[in-house]
Amino acid sequence: MIILKSIPGTKAHLQQLRQDGKTIGFVPTMGALHKGHISLIRRANLENDIVVCSIFVNPIQFNNKKDLEKYPRTLDDDIKMLEEVECDVLFAPDVDEMYPEPVFDKYDFGNLDKVMEGKHRPGHFNGVAVVVRKLFDVVEPQKAYFGMKDFQQLRIIQAMVEKLNIPVNIIPCPTLREKDGLAMSSRNVRLTKSERKLAPAIYQVLRGVKEKIGVITPVEAEIWAANQLNKYDEMEVEYFSIVSTDDLLQVESWDENTGVVACTAVNLGSVRLIDNLILI
Ligand code: AMP
Repeated sequence: MIILKSIPGTKAHLQQLRQDGKTIGFVPTMGALHKGHISLIRRANLENDIVVCSIFVNPIQFNNKKDLEKYPRTLDDDIKMLEEVECDVLFAPDVDEMYPEPVFDKYDFGNLDKVMEGKHRPGHFNGVAVVVRKLFDVVEPQKAYFGMKDFQQLRIIQAMVEKLNIPVNIIPCPTLREKDGLAMSSRNVRLTKSERKLAPAIYQVLRGVKEKIGVITPVEAEIWAANQLNKYDEMEVEYFSIVSTDDLLQVESWDENTGVVACTAVNLGSVRLIDNLILI
């Protein structure tokens, strides 16, 4: 695997590969890699000649400075994992390389960036859109792989690519979970032993909601689910929303003509966890 830190160096290297007729698949990450990330790299490896992974902890998508400081950074281990899975290129720029000047770009994705994560983390998705656009500009991939773990992010990237006519195919990838159902996340390492034991309740409740389809209304199911999780002293539900997979608007009934996804953010001790489950 070749490790590159500069934008011009990365562009030149990939330009050469493109000229040689290679297809490029791209997996953007913030590092602290786990099996969930690696599943995206594997998928990209199957579908492209060259796989590029980026590791960049993007400061402008953190609305909370402490969260940015506490974000785990494990570059040496990440490199080992990427080498094992035969990733071809790691692009790992510094902040100055990505943002030599302040960024003022403002995106508007309608409802998509106003609800759930967008509502609770002001500026978060603008920061995500800025960095992903910039990364696409550096890598120019044919295909880019995004986890459904961050469902709202995936929808926003799809909307951005459509809005700006960026010639890249966005490939959604399923959420990898621990055996007990907890969605894999770089943040899980920050859970204490007792918090880690409680954490699978989030997925259990998401599955519980699936069993409420047609029994109670979506709004009642949201309230039921939040109550289940808030029963634990250590947990505080930030939102539990049952929304259309299309525009992320709350659904009024189960038989609206749309896909339906349940999305939640839960503070467990000092760790903020998000998860979701496609219901319909
Ligand atoms: P992050 O490093 O958290 O920004 O994540 C990088 C990419 O990996 C994003 O597209 C995430 O949605 C995806 N991802 C994170 N966790 C998982 C998981 N448990 N399963 C599948 N993909 C994931």
